[in-house]
Amino acid sequence: MEIIPVVPRGYCKGVVRAIEIAKKCAKEYPDKKITVLGMIVHNQYVVDALKELNIHTVEDKKKTRLELLDQIDEGVVIFTAHGISDQVKQKALEKGLICVDASCTDVIETQNLVKEKCKEKASVLYIGKKNHPEAEAVLSISPDVHLITQISDLPDDLSGNIFVTNQTTMSLLEIEKIIDEIVRRWPHAQIMREICNATSIRQKAVLNLKNLNVDLLIVVGDPSSNNSTKLKVLGTQSGIQDVLMIETVQDLTEQNIMNHQKIAVTSGASTPTALTAQVIDVLQHYSQTKEFVLPEKSPKIL
Ligand code: SF4
Repeated sequence: MEIIPVVPRGYCKGVVRAIEIAKKCAKEYPDKKITVLGMIVHNQYVVDALKELNIHTVEDKKKTRLELLDQIDEGVVIFTAHGISDQVKQKALEKGLICVDASCTDVIETQNLVKEKCKEKASVLYIGKKNHPEAEAVLSISPDVHLITQISDLPDDLSGNIFVTNQTTMSLLEIEKIIDEIVRRWPHAQIMREICNATSIRQKAVLNLKNLNVDLLIVVGDPSSNNSTKLKVLGTQSGIQDVLMIETVQDLTEQNIMNHQKIAVTSGASTPTALTAQVIDVLQHYSQTKEFVLPEKSPKIL
């Protein structure tokens, strides 16, 4: 059995920055209540580790960021790596909260691009995920921004300038299908692909696995992480026989791995390195000894 740790995998610069900003806040405001508006990055283990630093999180997948803000009445509010709308920032300031923005610079770049195109009176087709905070912030820019999750979401009645872009963590293959259809219907549409570099290189590394005859891909990631779930989907689309997504090594069983010859391991951009390292350690030990031994301790996340 061969174990292939996929390179690159795991934390991206935006996630590292967001976590550092949160940790710095804990030092700067030791006497204030600090609350993150939504999960700082989409990984529950990171959220739990921040709690140990007295950094709380309010999250409810059914609520928008604007609605969630009603649950924070004092202290510091941290906006997450996924970006935030001007309306939420304004409301937080009106509530007298100290605002700290951990939005990823790549996300802000896409938001600014959409703002610019809206000012030019273009209709914007934004390929993204419904109810995702990054998409929520972009959709709040203008009613001229249309969320496109699949081809059937394309409006029938568009005319004039059309600008097409996407959420930073979408699948490389998925957006191309939608863009092909947009170009067929509106050949004059201006298209700017905005999948971030971190997402793109992690996805390309998974697509390359088909050349290595990998028969099992393990994706370590939180189910709420868009970039992690896209790695899983791409693994399946690239023809890998079995693809398994787990949150930690504790989700792994011997049955999952025993009949495979080449196992690749990757992780989403919000997955702590220590969680993936434990998975790789268990697999490497199994490949050398045929003993399946899970670690007793959870790793240190921060
Ligand atoms: S996945 Fe990309 S957009 Fe998201 S935080 Fe990381 S670098 Fe930024």
